[in-house]
Amino acid sequence: MQIHKASFDISAPDLDSCPAPEFPEFAFIGRSNVGKSSLINALANQRKPLADVSKTPGRTQMINYFRINDSWHLVDLPGYGFAKVSGKKQHKFNEFVSDYLLNRENLVCVFALIDSRHSPQKLDLEFTQWMMECGIPFVLVFTKADKMKPGAVKRNVDAFHQAMREWCEGLPRTYITSSSTGAGRKDILEFIGQAMDNTSI
Ligand code: GDP
Repeated sequence: MQIHKASFDISAPDLDSCPAPEFPEFAFIGRSNVGKSSLINALANQRKPLADVSKTPGRTQMINYFRINDSWHLVDLPGYGFAKVSGKKQHKFNEFVSDYLLNRENLVCVFALIDSRHSPQKLDLEFTQWMMECGIPFVLVFTKADKMKPGAVKRNVDAFHQAMREWCEGLPRTYITSSSTGAGRKDILEFIGQAMDNTSI
């Protein structure tokens, strides 16, 4: 799939404020600083970086919608695991993200971003386990692969898969990406293209 048109649509503070479910949605989520904006920008490959909108004040903790090719929505979800926000705010934040993930009828797939430089992190494992248990369709996307030697990336990916095997029979589809080199970009877009062909939304 080629992206020939991409633009910011709206920011939604909760599920009720999301746009009418007219397009299939592909959502991107990960801990803050995982490389989510960079990946979205690399995928969209527009002259003006798409995901800068998500970083503007007031939108960082919102569900940010980007309209792609007038046929699907790329949904930028707030990062989970904000250590700096107060306990109460964190709870609310998790609640509206989980509300979206559990109840959004036109959500086709979640891209769960994981920093490939680290050994498996508890929060990432807990989140993927939760999605698996809830039956939310997701794939894994390891980011920043250019920052490490390929062998070291593979070790971290294998370790993550190994940890998942404790509660998961088949492993999810997994992409190893770099926004700097463009690695994995074509594969992710191809996957979205195929998923679009197979969805009835
Ligand atoms: P976000 O908070 O998840 O949206 O993360 P950003 O996309 O803003 O990236 C956080 C930092 O990591 C920035 O300094 C990026 O330049 C850097 N970064 C993101 N992706 C990559 C990548 O694939 N390779 C390298 N070398 N740096 C990256």
